[in-house]
Amino acid sequence: MELGALVCTARSPRCAECPVEAVCAWRASGRVAPSGPSRRPQRYAGTDRQVRGLLLGVLREATGPVPRQRLDQVWTDDVQRSRALAGLVTDGLVEPVGEASFRLAGDGPALLPDGPTLA
Ligand code: SF4
Repeated sequence: MELGALVCTARSPRCAECPVEAVCAWRASGRVAPSGPSRRPQRYAGTDRQVRGLLLGVLREATGPVPRQRLDQVWTDDVQRSRALAGLVTDGLVEPVGEASFRLAGDGPALLPDGPTLA
């Protein structure tokens, strides 16, 4: 049984159905509400994750390498956008093509440094 997922949930524990109710310290303490900070939902808007998603969206829609100028249009913060793009390259999700274009990794012939592409 997934006690934490099915019975003892944070919002509404189902103590009457719980197999450990008799030994539950929280019940024994009188169900005192926790005094610590509550968990906040993870923010997405404005994060690098959002920028990465926007960049990947453009690359996914493209039929070939995408010039950096096109990627520059997805987010106005140059520093954050560059960091997100560099992260995608480092993570192996995006490949640079030449000096100023990018494509999804594996979305074309293999690239050789300073040389021709492999067919
Ligand atoms: S009795 Fe305790 S462990 Fe069981 S559901 Fe209630 S709070 Fe959770």
